[in-house]
Order: sequence, then structure tokens, then C-alpha cells
Amino acid sequence: MTRVDVAVVGSGPNGLAAAVTMARAGLTVHVHEQAGTIGGGLRAQALFDSEVRHDVCAAVHPMAAASAFFREFDLAARGVTLLQPPIAYAHPLDGGAVFAHHDLTETCAGLGPDGPRWRRLMAPLMRHSTGVTDFLLSGQRSLPPDSAAPLLLGPRVVGHLLRTNGLRTEAGRALLTGVAAHAMGRLPSLPAGAIALLLGHLAHTTGWPLPRGGSVRIADALADDLRAHGGTVHTDHRITDLAELDARVVMLDTTPRGLVALAGDRLPPRYRRALDRYHYGPGAAKADFLVDGPIPWADPEVGRAGTVHLGGTRPATLATENAAVRGEAGEEPFVLLVDPAVTDPDRAVDGRRPVWAYAHVPNGDTRDPVPLITRRIERYAPGFTDTIIASRGVSAAAYETYNPNYPGGDIGAGAVTLTQSVFRPVAARNPYRTPLPGVYLCSASTPPGPGVHGMCGYFAARAALHREFNVSTTPHLGPVAEWRTEPLG
Ligand SMILES: Cc1cc2nc3c(=O)[nH]c(=O)nc-3n(C[C@H](O)[C@H](O)[C@H](O)COP(=O)(O)OP(=O)(O)OC[C@H]3O[C@@H](n4cnc5c(N)ncnc54)[C@H](O)[C@@H]3O)c2cc1C
Repeated sequence: MTRVDVAVVGSGPNGLAAAVTMARAGLTVHVHEQAGTIGGGLRAQALFDSEVRHDVCAAVHPMAAASAFFREFDLAARGVTLLQPPIAYAHPLDGGAVFAHHDLTETCAGLGPDGPRWRRLMAPLMRHSTGVTDFLLSGQRSLPPDSAAPLLLGPRVVGHLLRTNGLRTEAGRALLTGVAAHAMGRLPSLPAGAIALLLGHLAHTTGWPLPRGGSVRIADALADDLRAHGGTVHTDHRITDLAELDARVVMLDTTPRGLVALAGDRLPPRYRRALDRYHYGPGAAKADFLVDGPIPWADPEVGRAGTVHLGGTRPATLATENAAVRGEAGEEPFVLLVDPAVTDPDRAVDGRRPVWAYAHVPNGDTRDPVPLITRRIERYAPGFTDTIIASRGVSAAAYETYNPNYPGGDIGAGAVTLTQSVFRPVAARNPYRTPLPGVYLCSASTPPGPGVHGMCGYFAARAALHREFNVSTTPHLGPVAEWRTEPLG
């Protein structure tokens, strides 16, 4: 293999974001992916023997719609259409469901006495949405360009921890807690509050969209851009040792565990011990269903939502999420559900449609999630079982076999705790750089953490460009190649 400027291990959204950024700087970039197809958490699969294509991992993309990386990359100009669901997300409760609409006023109207409180919480964040998003999806090492963002977020995040931001009704509290549960960690907590406010306000700005045709469209757009700038992607190519790579710089879209496996004894003991202390959060256990019609929700309005949170009341959600963190396998886990054809009708073929759902369970849980998730759906959609043509489950333990970046099913590639939000994966000024010359981490195990936003890869690439290649300006990422003069470093 000829020596290249940059070898990227892993073609998840962060690996591809790093690859695109570095190829745009004029470097030769080779991406190595162990799986047969690119995309990591963006991959698609045929569902059973049907024509229905289905998202294996990520399905809904509030962060891809809003992040600085994808704003500049411009998915729409690459032919990726982000479709908005009629309702961003729903939270069924035994007495009727509650909804987050794209329209703030409509949302507040449905929240009764909590309507004005929801508005007070979200409206200022919406006015500073770009600043808030860039602050929360930053490398967490520099001052935010919009100084209002931390001032708005600080009291709200603390308010979330202490008092559910003043929300008083069961419906309002459940609605926000369902979003906080995306953190997949202890509730309430400061990081979960930050995630609730980020995703919560995005529902009312850039939305919670699904790409037409599936999440893999995002990976394809990134890979197309990489190839257009001279880069290559090698699939079915698992890297087992850094020595296999003949490159000036190596970008690892892996967890710290992946780095240790690739570098072994070459890592300085102190750094190695710090990596060993990095810990992983609860697992996701996924069920995919092929069904013969829309889900028979008790409240039919839920059938217009892009995402559905099945967690019940706030106390019930706190109890099940905290139990999963403690490693207790409950029978009624928090479930996230997406019926993709609600947003993208072409996902249904000949009346058959996919249903995507995952449960939060203890790390390494080996249970088949299909019965657990089916029961959870049945509670709010009686008769769902009768619509199922076929189903399959992937336990939390099995997710790691599918993708080594999800140890024990931790799809965040590391627990989202307060410490690990900032010191991710270790306490260092530059969390992307490793002590090995020219070796960088660029996965969701670095700031700003999980989700399809590309920011981990982008920040890691910028750090490597600056230090290893003396590139002092950030490459332009938009469809038309040009340079801009923002200084790096
Ligand atoms: C079930 C599920 C649902 C999710 N839902 C959403 C969602 O709706 N919205 C959202 O924003 N996010 C969601 N996520 C999270 C999101 O998918 C991840 O945060 C994101 O994919 C992380 O990107 P990454 O590039 O860091 O890693 P990954 O996407 O995990 O990619 C890492 C890649 O590296 C490859 N790799 C690892 N080691 C090696 C090696 N040694 N050699 C070669 N290749 C290697 C892996 O095969 C993989 O392709 C979900 C994840 C899962 C699993």
C-alpha cells in the first residue's frame, strides 16, 4: 500500500466528516471500514425479504439538520432531502398523548397551563438557536461566538436538574423528560438537561427530520464528496493494528477501547490507564418490525409524529432510566419509536411498512428486545401485535458485534456524564490528539459526543490539519470548493 497523507479507520459520520475535511485541504485520504458498507450508524438494510429499506441505527436527524459541519456541507445541495414529520415527537400517556409540534404556539396550546412555561423555556433558545447549537455541539474548549448561549442555557440546565424548568403538569414534565432520556444516562442530570434543551428547542427550529430514502443518504453524500476530492473508501477492511496503515496521520473513528486494541503497548501507560477509566453507558436493544399498516395508536394523533417516546410519566421514565444505568433489567424500559413512513411515505412498499424502535437497557443486556418493545407499544397502541408481519431483535450485547463502537450496546460510544461530556475520552487540552505521533481520535467518544452531527470528526480534522500539516485555514466544505480565511487552532 502506498503511503498516504491520512488514513481514517471507520466510516461513520465522524470518520467521513474528518475524511471530507482533510481531503478538502488537498490531502490524500483513505478510509478503511470493517463492514461491507459505509456509514457506521447511518447504514441501511433490507427488512426481511421485502423491498423495504430500513435504518439499522440512526433514523432521525435534528443534529444533522442543525450542526455547523452539516450547515456548511449543505446536505440539501447534495440532493439529501430532510423531510419534516407532521409532528416532531409525541409522548403517549395513559390519559392521552402530548405533542411537540414544529410550531411553538401549537405546542404550547396543547400543553394547557404549562404552555406559557414551555414558551418561556424554548422561545429564547429558538432566537439564539445557532449560538445554542454551536455551543452545545462544540469542542468545549473555547468561548462561544454567541455569548448569549451559555447565559440562556446555564439557568435552564440547572432548572432542569432541580425543578423540571418549572413545568408543573404531568404532560409537560413527561414531554421534556422524554427528550432528556435521549442522553441514555442518569436522570435528572446536567448533561441530560443540556440534551433536552438542545433537542427540545430544535424541534421548533430546524426540526427533527428524516432523510428521504433513509439515513444512508447522508453517508453517501459524504462519501461522494470525499471521492470527488480524490479520497477512497475501502470496505470489508478491518484494521487490527496501527502498523497496517502507511499514513502520515491516522484518524480513528473508534472508541478508546478500539484505540487500545489497535495501539496496544505503544500507548504510554498513563494515557492507557486514563483510557481504561473511560466508561460506557447503558445499552440500546433494537427491534425492527415489518407491519401491514399504520400503528393503531389509542390516540390517532400519535400516528402523525416522526418520533414517539414510550416512557410514561416523568417519575416512571426517571425510574426506568436510572435502573438501566444501575444495570437492573426492568420489564418496562424506555422505548424510542419511529414509524419512518409517517414522514417519508416511500418507505412503505405495497402497504408494508417498517417500524424502528429501541429500548434503553443495561449495558451488555442479552435479552431479545422484541417481546419487551412489543409490550411497550401495545400499551399505547392496542392491536399492534396483529399488524406484525415479521420482527427481529438485536440485543444490547449483540450491537457490539455489529459495530465495535457500541460496547455492550452503548450507542453513545461512552457514557454521557458531566465529566465525560468535557473530558471525553480523557482530561486533555486537545482531546482528539493521542500521545502517539500523528494518531487522532475522531469518533463520538470525543467532544461533543454522540449523534449524527459530524462535529467530532470535523474538530479532530481541524486539530490534525493545524498540527501535522501546518494548514492554517479551514477548508470550505460547501458544494463549491473554495477557501475561507478563518484561522485554525
Ligand atoms: C440503534 C441506534 C439508533 C440511533 N439513533 C440515532 C438517531 O436517530 N439520531 C442520531 O443523531 N443518532 C442516532 N444514533 C447515534 C449515532 O448513530 C452515532 O452517535 C453516530 O453514528 C456516531 O458516529 P461515529 O462516526 O462516531 O461512529 P459510528 O457511526 O459508530 O461509525 C464507526 C465506524 O467505524 C468502523 N470501525 C470501527 N473499528 C474499526 C476497525 N478497527 N477497522 C475498520 N472499521 C472500524 C465501524 O464499523 C463503523 O462503521 C443511533 C445509534 C444507534 C446504534
